[in-house]
Amino acid sequence: MRVYADNAATTRLNPKAKEAMFDYYSTVFGNPSSVHSIGIEAAEALRHSRKNIADLMGCSEEEIYFTSGGSESNNQAIFSAAEFGYQSGKKHIVTTAIEHPSVHNVLKKLKNFGFEVTFLDVDKSGIITTEQVEAAIRHDTCLVTVMYANNEIGTIQPISEIASMCEQKGILFHTDAVQAVGHLDIDCSRECFSMLSASAHKFHGPKGIGLLYCQKGVNLTKLIEGGSQEWGKRAGTENVPAIVGMAVALKEALMNLEERVSKTKYLRNFLLSELLGIDTAFLNGDLERRLSGNINICFPGQSGEGLLLYLNGRGICVSTGSACSTGSVIPSHVLTSMSGEEVAKSSVRISLSEENSIEEMEYMVSVIREFLCN
Ligand SMILES: *Cc1c(COP(=O)(O)O)cnc(C)c1O
Repeated sequence: MRVYADNAATTRLNPKAKEAMFDYYSTVFGNPSSVHSIGIEAAEALRHSRKNIADLMGCSEEEIYFTSGGSESNNQAIFSAAEFGYQSGKKHIVTTAIEHPSVHNVLKKLKNFGFEVTFLDVDKSGIITTEQVEAAIRHDTCLVTVMYANNEIGTIQPISEIASMCEQKGILFHTDAVQAVGHLDIDCSRECFSMLSASAHKFHGPKGIGLLYCQKGVNLTKLIEGGSQEWGKRAGTENVPAIVGMAVALKEALMNLEERVSKTKYLRNFLLSELLGIDTAFLNGDLERRLSGNINICFPGQSGEGLLLYLNGRGICVSTGSACSTGSVIPSHVLTSMSGEEVAKSSVRISLSEENSIEEMEYMVSVIREFLCN
């Protein structure tokens, strides 16, 4: 049996999205900037996809910028706020200690350019409070960036509250919503987001395509200079097939949202209760304020890396959330900042989707028990 339980890393392409993309690789292959019929057809698909995505996200088409994915969207959002902040003498940014590297490393880089960055620690449950963020804001703060849901422990931050607090103070607010879009009910028209990042391959869309929502009136810098694509802010011929696929995948994800979430949660809770019955195992992060498919579990005294490799040998794909570089394992910065290195080294992330089955959960329990008994 092969079990894919690493949906926080990436997801399988939705068959309808795959089907919709096909024509834009073959017959309608035109460049949307061309003025002939094949180009116009491609431009029409692009416009249609942007409109559908904007409707699903509760914003206007002019507020959607297509990018190559979550990492690029995060880079563009943060560099934009930094550039315009710099010009008005504001060089302080507030964020958390548990951001994705595409946020974390951009902020570290900005420190070399004279920015000061406050990295707020989350509590034991993996949550940051609005009060913590508010207390960190200074007269020279140009941006607050807090991820919507964490990719390792799945915890959901009080994003609406933080965003409206920032709006009241007139400070730009960005959220890395890559784990949230397509998994939670998000309506930008009800929220005070200045910018929001999303990525298609985290909600059963294709890889290498994402978007940046940028509220009207918020200025974006150009990371890529060139032609006037994407409202003049992101040059390069649009990835039409991927954009079409992303629009279909998002529609599919949100159309069946409740059903998908309740199935995933049922599987997750079944697996979790079985695993928590083993020895001294415990869950990392809050159970309630959490993505429906996420389990990040610590087996004290065991090696998370060892468990991952054992599971892989039995056809089960999970993750440790730690990066392997030149033979040495660097424990997850998220778990390390929350609970220390020991916990980080003994934990694994199991991220489910509605495509998993109860049989797969039972199989996983038996293989994990087998590993722990050896
Ligand atoms: C996957 C992920 C990203 C990066 O998205 P890509 O499209 O792979 O570049 C950023 N942030 C979070 C929280 C993620 O899970």
